[in-house]
Amino acid sequence: MMARLILATGNAHKVEEFARLLEGLPVSIESPRSCGGMPKVEETGTTFRENAQIKAEALHSRADADAYILADDSGLEVDALNGAPGVYSARYAGPKASDQDNLLKLLDALDGVSVECRSARFRCALCLIAPDGAICFFEGHCVGRIAETPIGSEGFGYDPVFIPKGYSESFGKLGEGIKSRLSHRALAIAALRASPAFLL
Ligand code: IMP
Repeated sequence: MMARLILATGNAHKVEEFARLLEGLPVSIESPRSCGGMPKVEETGTTFRENAQIKAEALHSRADADAYILADDSGLEVDALNGAPGVYSARYAGPKASDQDNLLKLLDALDGVSVECRSARFRCALCLIAPDGAICFFEGHCVGRIAETPIGSEGFGYDPVFIPKGYSESFGKLGEGIKSRLSHRALAIAALRASPAFLL
């Protein structure tokens, strides 16, 4: 029988993206709806790993014992801002901030910072809880720099201002095809797919 993998996110867009990245693995991917929905959690961790673990454990406590649970946490670290917005990426401009508010706050914080000093990286941590309770972490990152103005409208979050290394356009312009090969999430999932700890 195929193993079950429940994604610890209430975001339908993320369920779809992970389902695509996990294609071909002998697991059935489920949203948290199969166990009553994703519980509300406070992301109180100071690292992406800690926050991913908080989400995974919250769902593990209400899921069937035979299921794997996978949670992620991700964000953007900007060197000139000492790693900010980091774990606060989603709420950089305040608890109810939109993607646009966050992106404009970031451009403002970097106003006057030269191209060479605008280096940044997206990071993603995954926390996997196996049916026996064992916990594993996988990470991926994608280096690049912050543009001076938004470019393109594809993707979400900081995509319009993040230019991956080796390119001159942002993820907002490059689109999903390129992002799905380079992104922090794709690389973290590649690490999980390659791990013997998965589905033993
Ligand atoms: P979370 O992992 O859902 O908590 O997302 C954290 C925040 O990081 C998001 O709201 C975005 O602002 C930002 N973020 C994470 N991944 C990406 C990405 O691939 N593109 C753009 N922004 C991202």
